[in-house]
Amino acid sequence: MELVDTFSRPLRALRISVTDRCNFRCPYCMPREVFPADYPFLDRKDILDFEEIERLVGIFTGLGVGKVRLTGGEPLLRKGLPDLVARLARIPGVEDLALTTNGSLLQELAEPLKAAGLGRITVSLDTLDPAKFKRLCDAELPIAKILGGIDAASREGFGPIKLNCVLQRGVNDDELLELAEFAREGGHILRFIEFMDVGTRNGWKVDAVVPANEVVARLSAKWKLEPLPAPIQGRVAERWRYADGGGEIGVIASVTQPFCGGCDRARLSSEGALYTCLFSGGGLDLKTSLRNGASDADIQALATRAWTRRADRYSELRTTCTEALPRVEMFHIGG
Ligand code: SAM
Ligand code: SF4
Ligand code: SF4
Repeated sequence: MELVDTFSRPLRALRISVTDRCNFRCPYCMPREVFPADYPFLDRKDILDFEEIERLVGIFTGLGVGKVRLTGGEPLLRKGLPDLVARLARIPGVEDLALTTNGSLLQELAEPLKAAGLGRITVSLDTLDPAKFKRLCDAELPIAKILGGIDAASREGFGPIKLNCVLQRGVNDDELLELAEFAREGGHILRFIEFMDVGTRNGWKVDAVVPANEVVARLSAKWKLEPLPAPIQGRVAERWRYADGGGEIGVIASVTQPFCGGCDRARLSSEGALYTCLFSGGGLDLKTSLRNGASDADIQALATRAWTRRADRYSELRTTCTEALPRVEMFHIGG
């Protein structure tokens, strides 16, 4: 069954936040002033358990979802994650099962995740500089741990690994070429993401955004790039190939060239609410329905209603919208 929203966009992808916790405090996502050590994260009983996630994914595949991505918070902090992966990998209709992680626990978990049937891994990497890493991620561990995690994932056969880099003007944009070189050498696919105004607490300013056009121009000054064709469905990144055979690179221009027209993603928060846009003010509480004994058909009907009424296109409206709209925080529903 294919569900379409009010702009004829089908539902094809589901991003699941498996925890709202994180061992990093990236200022653009979970600034430490707002999320101190004693921050009241959700209790275990309030987040979806593995049975509930498995059941929901089964229901969503019945609505057309074939792509599932696990995210967070930091998804590798969720105890027993490989067990969840194994459950989801077995669901008929899940064609693509992926994970977005900060990489801090990948050295330990790449192997069990592969064995459990995980298909692809994206690691966030904003800098290669050890001192800057400390500042940008506000984490206890050294950057070597992340680089080791990327290597471990490559060794397990997850390659090419996607690396996500959020560029901020005056913060890490001086490393653009160095990051590209690192990815070329390792056989990874680097994607530069424009810094977004997700949530309400990251002090976003448009001046800090490095436009994708500028990124491509700076890369092109060093390497010849050839555009790769856009996928037919759900375009997010603009993709380029190095003419010298050095692999692929992408830019995600969510601010300067929004792609709401092809947005086929829904998001499930760790507490079981369904969001139809990264910038939504509120979600549909599926957990309560699940726990009150709703049948699969009931949940399917709720999700169908939410998607068929969907008219979200926040990024396309960004310039005309007021900034005061209520919005969910990124760590709640994942990126
Ligand atoms: N903790 C994992 C990680 O960092 O990869 C998964 C969750 S994180 C919220 C998912 C992605 O969102 C990361 O690649 C992160 O860089 C990105 N992100 C977070 N805040 C952002 C912002 N304000 N603008 C653009 N990307 C952002
Ligand atoms: Fe944690 Fe990822 Fe957010 Fe950084 S971007 S604080 S690693 S959830
Ligand atoms: Fe999709 Fe909302 Fe992002 Fe537009 S702003 S691409 S509708 S998540």
